[in-house]
Amino acid sequence: MNSLEFKNISKNFGNFAALKSVSLNIPENSVFCLLGENGAGKSTLMKILSGFLKPDEGEIFLNQKNLILNSTDDAIKSGIGMIYQHFMLIKDFTVFENVILGNELSKGIKLDNEKMMNTLYDLNLKYKLNLNLNSKAEDLNISEQQKTEILKLLYNNPEIIILDEPTAVLSPDEINSLFEIIKVFKSEGKTIILITHKLKEVIRICDFVAVLRKGELVFESGIKDLNIDKLASEITGEIIQDNSEIIIDEKIHSENILAEIKNLKIFSDSNLNLILRPFEITGIVGVEGNGQVELINFITGMENYEYGSKKFITDKVSLIPDDRINKGVIGEFSFPENLFLHSDFNTYKSEYLKDKSENLIQNFDIRIPDLDIPVKSLSGGNMQKVIIAREFDRNNDILIFHHPTRGVDIKSSELIYSKIFEEKLKGKSILIFSSDIDEILKLSDRILVLYKGNFLKSFTKSELSRFGNEELSKIIGKLMIGIDET
Ligand code: ADP
Ligand code: MG
Repeated sequence: MNSLEFKNISKNFGNFAALKSVSLNIPENSVFCLLGENGAGKSTLMKILSGFLKPDEGEIFLNQKNLILNSTDDAIKSGIGMIYQHFMLIKDFTVFENVILGNELSKGIKLDNEKMMNTLYDLNLKYKLNLNLNSKAEDLNISEQQKTEILKLLYNNPEIIILDEPTAVLSPDEINSLFEIIKVFKSEGKTIILITHKLKEVIRICDFVAVLRKGELVFESGIKDLNIDKLASEITGEIIQDNSEIIIDEKIHSENILAEIKNLKIFSDSNLNLILRPFEITGIVGVEGNGQVELINFITGMENYEYGSKKFITDKVSLIPDDRINKGVIGEFSFPENLFLHSDFNTYKSEYLKDKSENLIQNFDIRIPDLDIPVKSLSGGNMQKVIIAREFDRNNDILIFHHPTRGVDIKSSELIYSKIFEEKLKGKSILIFSSDIDEILKLSDRILVLYKGNFLKSFTKSELSRFGNEELSKIIGKLMIGIDET
């Protein structure tokens, strides 16, 4: 038996409620899909089940017994194993060594290598993992890395197996082979909890689904009679009817349009329309030179075109430009001086400026050796954070990014992304211009493909959740060069 029940699980990160009193039953011996947009709380809920995180409130029951998990070891002992979204293999180690390592740590006893090798060999065969136990992890492709994680998990013979977005990184063939493994798990009586964004897969393999939206459980159902449209509307909270959408979230009400551009003629044969709403990140993806600069100049009022009308409810618009040093800062000025480029510098006392700067430096993790140095001496990532900190601090309604993280390191990029999400939650309308499809996919609520001064294609929130990222990358990549196969 392995029936599982979550009761009123809540989890906060600081002031942010990642899970709000989630109650959920997971029937034994089922393939259970946990769905929801990015940030809905899926991984958090599963990390609680795997003992990685502790809930602030609520309880878990396994076979009607209250399950107390103080560590991932406790979960493993209770027969629960999880494969995380990001693999945790050691590159220099072989498959065998990686598996041993995890289990040595979890069991805390000296292991008999030969016996273990035999066990792993058997598991490898039984589940058709096709792994070479002596391969180095760094030589494994993504699918083999995942299978190594699966092998590591199987060594503990779990009854409940959690897979967090396992298919996001796999090719169609690799997905098929993973699904075969999942079917074997099920035939052995195990319960599999699967997180995925690919709704076709859900219909194909799951017995039950549950949907989280902004930390709340909003939908639970058996798979029978469900279709992809129904799932997509549960996930996004938008009702999909006759291809036209009614948006339920009252904050993103059509009456709340912040800006509207109509019939803009960037090039002689283009005609572009754009509406900006609060609480929305719009990704505009395209190859440079397809009208990005012209559109940005039009929105920010730097350029007027003969054709095209503009109706803005707000004039509070910020631009984080592509050319940091020439358009974003005054390189010779210090950070505090750059902070107040938009205001009358002299009205601020130097103490106030200094405090404000120090706050922003901390908040945006800006690495600056000395407040007085000219900002031109900062690295690209730090300079970008200076500009973003300044613009966010102005509290404008519309934020436009042109290449938000070009030339910026991963850590700073991640910070910039999380700051962008925070601004969205405050009700800003955010426009991202980028040629980096991954970045656009990561950030956007909707995506517009800019080609020769027109939006060749738009993807709404519900359409996006219907595709996998890999599939979307391919489609968008082609659209960027004008090929529409949709
Ligand atoms: P999902 O897996 O559904 O995409 P997560 O469970 O990873 O979402 O995250 C839910 C929310 O909680 C997100 O807004 C995320 O930014 C936030 N979050 C997750 N982990 C942490 C953490 N350790 N600290 C702060 N916020 C977090
Ligand atoms: Mg997740």
